[in-house]
Amino acid sequence: MRAALMFEAGDVRIEEVPDPRIEQPTDAVVRILRSCICGSDLWPYGSLPHTDTGRRMGHEALGVVEDIGSEVATVRRGDVVIVPFVWSDGTCEFCREGLQTSCRHGGSWGGTHFNGLQAEAARVPQADGTLVSVPVAEDSALLPSLLSLSDVFSTGHHCAVTAGVGPATTVTVIGDGAVGLSAVLAAKRLGAERIILMGRHTARTDLGVEFGATDVVAERGEEGVAKVRELTGGDGTHTVLECVGLENAIETAFGVVRDGGTVSRVGAPQYAVVPMDFRVFLRNITLTGGVAPARAYLPELLPDILEGRIEPGRVFDRTVDLVGVPAGYRAMADRDALKVLIRP
Ligand SMILES: [Zn+2]
Repeated sequence: MRAALMFEAGDVRIEEVPDPRIEQPTDAVVRILRSCICGSDLWPYGSLPHTDTGRRMGHEALGVVEDIGSEVATVRRGDVVIVPFVWSDGTCEFCREGLQTSCRHGGSWGGTHFNGLQAEAARVPQADGTLVSVPVAEDSALLPSLLSLSDVFSTGHHCAVTAGVGPATTVTVIGDGAVGLSAVLAAKRLGAERIILMGRHTARTDLGVEFGATDVVAERGEEGVAKVRELTGGDGTHTVLECVGLENAIETAFGVVRDGGTVSRVGAPQYAVVPMDFRVFLRNITLTGGVAPARAYLPELLPDILEGRIEPGRVFDRTVDLVGVPAGYRAMADRDALKVLIRP
């Protein structure tokens, strides 16, 4: 079968790789219907040192179960399933607590040791704990939104939930990428009435407004902080959803959070130190967030998509086949595409 491999920064190729097959009785093999390129794929795309073997890419997918191991009980051949961005057994203490990203028998896609999901098919370990069947056809118009539960929308939701967003909280979302826009939609879904979106790409912030943002702040840095404070009577917002991962974004987050408030970060941090110094101590700020346990949120979020109340799949603004994946990476890196859907 064919799959996407990255050989070094800027070099993604589609190559023949071995077909996935059942290796453990708890495995499933899934034919990929839809995958996508993640903002986090752009970090290696900008910096990966050369590798002769290539690195398998992709960690978000939705597909059809083609084969199952002898111990798999919750999914059947022919099921359309969501593949969350980590696999998990569903039975250990962490999984039972809803933190599948720390599963004792879990793992993640891609790299040099395991298959990635930007491919025609994949072996899914711990199929019972990982996969979620959805009652839709292989050509359903809901596929993009269902795919978003595999990572991007679940990550935005995790950011809002860990920040404590609800009807009584004001929200600032930092970043108008696909995760930031997902965080806006998640905050709106949780009842937030005031959602300030910090971003400067109008095509993206326009979608943010449709998702529920009440204000857009295009300024960055100190100017951006001043603008958000001006909009909030000088105080800042109760919650800040940091969806970028760069140092200036986390600094802005501490600048716009209200005293006693919460900063949640879900952008993969490209910084080593968070400025939680004495000044922040005096303001009683909570820092939370982290990698999202997408699997934990699926039962809660699925009905809203199946019943048409939310459409997080609107973050996909370009569709490619496998051959188009290298161009898809380029388009996202050039900020020419917001998020690229792959239809292998
Ligand atoms: Zn587990």
